[in-house]
Amino acid sequence: MRNPIQDYLESLADHGHDAGGAVADYIPELAAADPDRFALCIATVDGHLYTVGDGDLPYSIQSISKPFTYALALQDRGAAAVAQKVDVEPSGDAFNEISLDPRTNRPSNPMINAGAITAASLVDGVDNEERFERVRQWHSAFAGRQLGFDAQVYQSELSTAHRNRAIAHMLREFEVLESDPEGALDQYIRQCAMKVTTEDLAMMAATLANGGVNPISEERVAQATDVEHVLSVMTSCGMYDAAGDWITSVGVPAKSGVSGGIIGVLPGQLGLAVFSPRLDSHGHSARGVEVFERISDEMELHLMHVTRNSRT
Ligand code: GLU
Repeated sequence: MRNPIQDYLESLADHGHDAGGAVADYIPELAAADPDRFALCIATVDGHLYTVGDGDLPYSIQSISKPFTYALALQDRGAAAVAQKVDVEPSGDAFNEISLDPRTNRPSNPMINAGAITAASLVDGVDNEERFERVRQWHSAFAGRQLGFDAQVYQSELSTAHRNRAIAHMLREFEVLESDPEGALDQYIRQCAMKVTTEDLAMMAATLANGGVNPISEERVAQATDVEHVLSVMTSCGMYDAAGDWITSVGVPAKSGVSGGIIGVLPGQLGLAVFSPRLDSHGHSARGVEVFERISDEMELHLMHVTRNSRT
């Protein structure tokens, strides 16, 4: 018998073709992406995975790593210590804005680059090597399999990261970073170059939806209180300077990355991931946004929706 969810997702496979946008090219290696690739995956908290399109195509995770590394910093340092270094206020700024909150001299939130470089520096480890290995293992536990690393994307971003380098040095100047800014920058660029598939991203989102327990391996990866904290920040800040539009029209905590992925988390129910490399002016997958808007509407996923009939 055909599965109705699979049938429904397949009916979306052609949706949003004309969404427009352009593949990111400020990281030279990303410009090589095939703009027509597409994937849509849903993972439920009871362990079902539905895939349409190129669900097993690998690409670099980019900014979708930010909420996960922030969760690791919360676990390592505790929420109070992390809050001394990075706020949880929407900035309304682009992801790569070179600025701190003028009142606190801290990054506004951990979803923009300034906050994410700070969060990367708060992960425990004796050196960068150990810190990155912990970050990789942490993301792997969310995905339920060992994630790889794209050395070419890493080198490509490292050699052109003038803007992120400026942000890291600004953070050092204001003593948000207390040690070598180049080390924190390197750590951040490494985490952005981890390789994921859209199926991995759906599973990582489902682990967040499941309060920090991976639905397949049943491993408790993160504490439920840290997951609530991270999902709150994703809700208000995950989509950068389009966060208000997103939460109004789609209504789920989310995070995007410049490779073309977007994850969405419906707490207690499911994780969703869409991949399409053409980006809109905010740096979000243009087609991904359209697909999310349609699924949210038709499956009644909006967090503020009262009568919900979308249980698995
Ligand atoms: N590595 C990218 C950067 O810092 C990530 C940006 C994104 O995915 O939004 O520019």
